[in-house]
Amino acid sequence: MTLRFDILTTFPEMFGLEAPAALGLSIPARARAAGLVEWHATNIRDFAENKHSKTDDRPFGGGPGMVMMCQPLWDAVRAVEASDPRPTTRILLTPQGAPLKQPLVEELATRPRLLLIAGHYEGLDERVIEKLDPIEVSLGDYVLSGGELAAMVLMDAIIRKLPGALGHEDSSEEDSFSARGPGGERLLDCPHYTKPREWMGMGVPEVLLSGDHGKIARWRLEQMRERTRARRPDLLEP
Ligand code: SAM
Repeated sequence: MTLRFDILTTFPEMFGLEAPAALGLSIPARARAAGLVEWHATNIRDFAENKHSKTDDRPFGGGPGMVMMCQPLWDAVRAVEASDPRPTTRILLTPQGAPLKQPLVEELATRPRLLLIAGHYEGLDERVIEKLDPIEVSLGDYVLSGGELAAMVLMDAIIRKLPGALGHEDSSEEDSFSARGPGGERLLDCPHYTKPREWMGMGVPEVLLSGDHGKIARWRLEQMRERTRARRPDLLEP
């Protein structure tokens, strides 16, 4: 099954399919070529019914900045949703949403179609958010200029979780936040090393050279638990 993303934006050119567009390279590009994912960017401006195709206007009550208007976005969402029979999950990228975590990424990777709404300026008129009733997702406690980069980050994280997107079938299972400890707790990844065996006087842990796969797996799990305890003890809290 192909996962379909629709991005509603006033900057659709940011989602161009060719390199050097961020999603036109590496794993997302390969997943797209393999038919695991498709994405379509729609310009909200194309749905504006006013004279100058405006998508934003001054805030009631005064103050700086512009607010994205209800009508163009509402009509864009309705038209895009009607263009394909697969049901959509609406997602608004906003600093006021729930901080993005791996469990949500994994859940979204199982849905057939995701509609991502990227805001700009001061954000959206509150009434259209109420009507659309989207899942509100934040990348973290900082403010970006627009939702497009946030949408791309979310897309990249979801695409990695699609079966077959990575070369090695279970390699994303060992990533930080996906890897599980014995009690099912989510862990950070272990340290990794590659050639040469010695670099600037530094060797690599002997166990990794032992060829003993059981020992290596036990060492890696221990490293993951230690790292998680030291760096992200909150992940181990029940
Ligand atoms: N005035 C808004 C506020 O303080 O909540 C910020 C608006 S921001 C300048 C413009 C757009 O960028 C937002 O509508 C949202 O789509 C996106 N954005 C900014 N920070 C984000 C974050 N941390 N996570 C997700 N999207 C973000």
